[in-house]
Amino acid sequence: MRRALSTASWAASIAAIIVGAAHGFLAESLASPWAWTALAVLGLGVVVGSPVHKPSFTVLATLVVSCVPLGFALALSRATTSASTIETLMVLSQATLALGLAVFVKRRLGSRASAVLADGVIVAMGAWVLIWVVLVRPLIDTNATTSLTTLRAASLGVAMVVLFLLATLLFSDTSPTIAVGMFGVAIGLGLVGVVLRALSFRGDITINETTFVAPFLMAAGLAGAALLHPSVRDVHKPGSVRLSPPLMTRLLTTTVSLIAPIIVLALTDAHGTQDRVVRTLSVSVLAIAAMVRIIQSVRSNARTQERLVRNALTDSLTGLPNRVLMLEHIENAVQQSWRTNRQPTVLFIDVDRFKNINDSLGHSIGDDVLMHVASRLLTSVNQHATVARISGDEFVVLDPTTESPTQSVLLAEQVLDAFREPVTTPEGDMFVTASIGVAYAPKAMELSADDLLRHADTAMYRAKGAGRNCIALFDDSMLHTVSQRLDVETALYRALERNELHLVHQPIVDIDLGIVVGFEALMRWNRSDGAAVSPAEFIPIAEETGTIVPLGSWAINDALTHLRQWIETGVVTPSTTMSVNVSPRQLNDPQFVATVSNALQATGIPAEQLWLEVTESVMITEPAQALSALRRLNTLGVRIAIDDFGTGYSSLSLLQQFPIQCVKIDRAFVQNITDDIGTRNLVKTIIAMADALGADVVAEGIETEGQLLTLQSLECHRAQGYFISKPVATADVPNTVKELHDGDAWRNHTTSE
Ligand code: C2E
Ligand code: MG
Ligand code: MG
Repeated sequence: MRRALSTASWAASIAAIIVGAAHGFLAESLASPWAWTALAVLGLGVVVGSPVHKPSFTVLATLVVSCVPLGFALALSRATTSASTIETLMVLSQATLALGLAVFVKRRLGSRASAVLADGVIVAMGAWVLIWVVLVRPLIDTNATTSLTTLRAASLGVAMVVLFLLATLLFSDTSPTIAVGMFGVAIGLGLVGVVLRALSFRGDITINETTFVAPFLMAAGLAGAALLHPSVRDVHKPGSVRLSPPLMTRLLTTTVSLIAPIIVLALTDAHGTQDRVVRTLSVSVLAIAAMVRIIQSVRSNARTQERLVRNALTDSLTGLPNRVLMLEHIENAVQQSWRTNRQPTVLFIDVDRFKNINDSLGHSIGDDVLMHVASRLLTSVNQHATVARISGDEFVVLDPTTESPTQSVLLAEQVLDAFREPVTTPEGDMFVTASIGVAYAPKAMELSADDLLRHADTAMYRAKGAGRNCIALFDDSMLHTVSQRLDVETALYRALERNELHLVHQPIVDIDLGIVVGFEALMRWNRSDGAAVSPAEFIPIAEETGTIVPLGSWAINDALTHLRQWIETGVVTPSTTMSVNVSPRQLNDPQFVATVSNALQATGIPAEQLWLEVTESVMITEPAQALSALRRLNTLGVRIAIDDFGTGYSSLSLLQQFPIQCVKIDRAFVQNITDDIGTRNLVKTIIAMADALGADVVAEGIETEGQLLTLQSLECHRAQGYFISKPVATADVPNTVKELHDGDAWRNHTTSE
């Protein structure tokens, strides 16, 4: 149906052109068969097209109200009707068209019309000057009455308004629909008709009535064709308006509209005062329109430029300066400080655990939090300070007025204070904390803005390392730490393939039975240059860089392989367990569960004999992911131990949610257990709690006989520590086990790693 109507519409438009032309050339009277055919096409459009496509009321009303008086005017021109009545009908028809077009243009362009209006005025005024000189002025010389001349001139004037609106529409429409195109051509043809008709009144040119009616007939037919086309439904909808339509077409049209009247005015003489006044006024309006257009252009260019610069220098979310602009501010502050007594302060502020907020609550809440942080920072500093957001959750504050390190730290404390109140989000209130690195420009020392910012950044890392939600002041030793860390980081990437890593094993004993029931595998790194790096140093780096994932997998495989050997060679009983430490990062690795299950299969160790030790932090930072991985591991049969228990901040409810089969009491409690009754009671409680959860208990870091005996009296059955055995190299395990089993050797144990 749609396709059929579209074809019919095209056929009708071709027919309209042909019959219009035929009427112009061949018809002898106004009422020729050609003319009737063209009108029939219009009728077809109205009768068939409009009920099917239901074009907007404005379109239909404009069409009908402008066509009817036009038809009457043309039909009556032969009759005895007075010329003034006919001209009035013509003006009425054009005025309706102009009104309809105006509504139409306004609707299609919306609020963005102003840019193209000035161009429309230029085109219409340019055409008006020509029309005035060629048509309207000569009309005054004819012997028609003044009122008739005025009406004819008015008709031409309104025609120029129509032209203006048409030009505006075409200048702004990026993808005109076919119906809009057909209506446009129809209106253009109507204007041609008006001009030809006006020419015929001059007297010196003879234009046949049938000739100047031809364009009107084509226009009517085309309007009918447009009504048949399916795209007429969307004619009134706002089109995709571009802000800067193709420059060349627009420029050419406006230039021609400016130059043509100037040439015409230069080549023709003015006839009397009236002509001169009209010419002067018209050219003045044209000049004003051109000026307005130029001003608009310049302004819009300036605005675009300003927007580009602003976008390049500010952060789109918070509107704060970005890194580039902040560096400029710091550079200025440092430069000026040389002349004053000041030591500008730079604070590097990183929102703690922002990734968790983003991941768990979504990016829009994350954005909300960042906006809150930005406004808190702005209100917490004085008006001389600048606040910038330099990336994700990193903000920088610059105060160029501080005069001493003490003032710098006070400023940082003031900023940290701004985080005390909870942030209100649609998900509820939440406490957001930040780690702040403080750096100040030292007196009499040249320091670039980049360096100062980097110092603050380095100090911020120190603050993070110190447990977050705190301040760290930069000092030179930090630079050394940073470069050292960088060195470890790079070497760690290669450590695995260079075989620089190995495992040591610390026995876990059953205190009551006096036998080794398991081992904890601990990683050791001896660098190729001979230096031994402690796990306390390299494990956190491996966690941060993600290297812990391959390192951890290797550890599980290696540990289980050794256990297999010891069981096979009878060094240990077949039910001996192996504990391997696991980082949160590993639990987030989608491959982790598969890695564990492959290692178990490859070594043939029953899953129940593998203990994975996780710290409490896992439960706090990434509960959802960790929980799912741990549950899947549990389903495999693998046991989960909670390491360093009591040092984290896990709540009982979290503990209950997690599948835990063993609690490892941290060394910190064991240390004081003999002297401090409070600690002893605490350990008693932990043991009772583990019992309630149905979990085993292992005490870590036993260094004295007293500690061992106290733990035994508290009903803790398993223990691990230097008093029993230090972690030992793989090759030494058989000896160590033998010594531990042979009587009371625990007291004089000498095996070393
Ligand atoms: P952890 O899992 O709590 O391991 C126990 C740590 O305490 C080991 O330190 C061990 O050598 C030490 N230790 C054992 N008994 C005593 C004692 O009686 N007195 C004292 N003072 N210390 C004792 P180590 O080997 O330096 O490991 C430190 C931490 O590094 C481990 O703490 C664990 O969190 C981590 N780590 C070690 N190996 C790995 C690994 O393969 N993967 C992961 N993710 N972390 C590991
Ligand atoms: Mg451990
Ligand atoms: Mg531990």
